[in-house]
Amino acid sequence: MLTQTIFREYDIRGVAERDLSSPGVELLGQAIGSYLRRRTGPRINLARDCRLSGQRLHDALLKGLLAAGCEVTDLGVVPTPLLYYSVYRFEADGGIMITGSHNPSDYNGFKMMAGKAAVYGQDIQDIYALMQSRDFTAGHGSVTETDIVTPYVDEIASRFAFARRVKVVFDGGNGTAGPTLHRLLEKLNVEPVEMYFEMDGNFPNHHPDPTVEENLEHLKKAVQETGAELGLAFDGDSDRIGAVDEAGNVVWGDQLMLIFAREILSRKPGSTFIGEVKCSRLLYDEITRLGGKAIMYKTGHSLIKTKMKQEHAELAGEMSGHIFFADRFYGFDDALYAACRLIEIVAASGQPLSHQLAGLPRYINTPEIRVDWADETKFGVVERVKEHFRALYPVNDVDGVRVSFPNGWGLLRASNTQPVLVMRFEAENEEQLAEYRSIFESALAAHR
Ligand SMILES: [Zn+2]
Repeated sequence: MLTQTIFREYDIRGVAERDLSSPGVELLGQAIGSYLRRRTGPRINLARDCRLSGQRLHDALLKGLLAAGCEVTDLGVVPTPLLYYSVYRFEADGGIMITGSHNPSDYNGFKMMAGKAAVYGQDIQDIYALMQSRDFTAGHGSVTETDIVTPYVDEIASRFAFARRVKVVFDGGNGTAGPTLHRLLEKLNVEPVEMYFEMDGNFPNHHPDPTVEENLEHLKKAVQETGAELGLAFDGDSDRIGAVDEAGNVVWGDQLMLIFAREILSRKPGSTFIGEVKCSRLLYDEITRLGGKAIMYKTGHSLIKTKMKQEHAELAGEMSGHIFFADRFYGFDDALYAACRLIEIVAASGQPLSHQLAGLPRYINTPEIRVDWADETKFGVVERVKEHFRALYPVNDVDGVRVSFPNGWGLLRASNTQPVLVMRFEAENEEQLAEYRSIFESALAAHR
């Protein structure tokens, strides 16, 4: 049996050989299959990333799905966005991706869709409850293997005609991006330098998580050595993108969103955009200055995706490199598609990537500061600190507390997924940054 602790806010995830036994995963397959059959229907698309435990988990889960009477379309080993794409393309009733995403190589897990909607929060607890009660549907399921890479590559390639041939380094991180990207690049007007495109669940070169700067060191070096105009990296299942400019400077998730938003606003004035509370003030200020509507929202890709539909936003994104395009696309987070959009902008500008951020105000910020804090008290302390600041400064409380200071801001929020408090600060200089941080640390100490 699987333990409830792996049934998390946005996915089911654990250490494969400790938390995800084959009999347990088979039961999980029956539970997910029953849940989806009752909620949306029996036609389920299934895919997995290249982790070493993927085949075993696939076989066990499939057994359960078939016992629950699901009609499974098996896509094999592909990036997560191709699973999303397949659900849109084939109008499936749901999708399951077996992936450890950007987590260490011994992890694995399940991301789920009911129709085109993400399965998250209470839905995931409902699946756990189904598994506990064994209240399963029954039937004679079926499985068909289908190639999704060819239709995906054909469609994406047909959507882009780059204005000139840009040299770009791509770091696949030995995750799922490489093989699909290689086929896509053959059809695009681009000069690629391909690094670590072979899938290898041991991730022998560096960990496939582009939000951690040390994982971008090889890419930075390769961009400078080859004279490329930009470099792009992907997480293990290719739903997060990382980017560096021609000088090897990291272009973070909120900066990428700003670049994309500006291009969209040039075609669609007044468009709406959604960023999370951790994004730079620059993103919100620039969108507003350019006549767009900028909404600051909660952290968490399932939450952001839902909000995006409600607001009819053209683009949404997170610092972590999940970028969602509704503009000219389906609205799901696809790092391969985002890569094409960035190359398109660089090609059209006639200048390397750094040009896109030239002339903008400069802010400095801290990375995410993570403080270990018990799950039982983490939300309470954030509430008390919020009330404290509310009397003193303008506060945004959509997710934790984000305080606007005269020349920057500070954020304190409780992680949804870990016993951790997260802080982040931004200011115009180091002195202000230290001041804002100490204001938060004092408040936290006084209200613990
Ligand atoms: Zn991922």
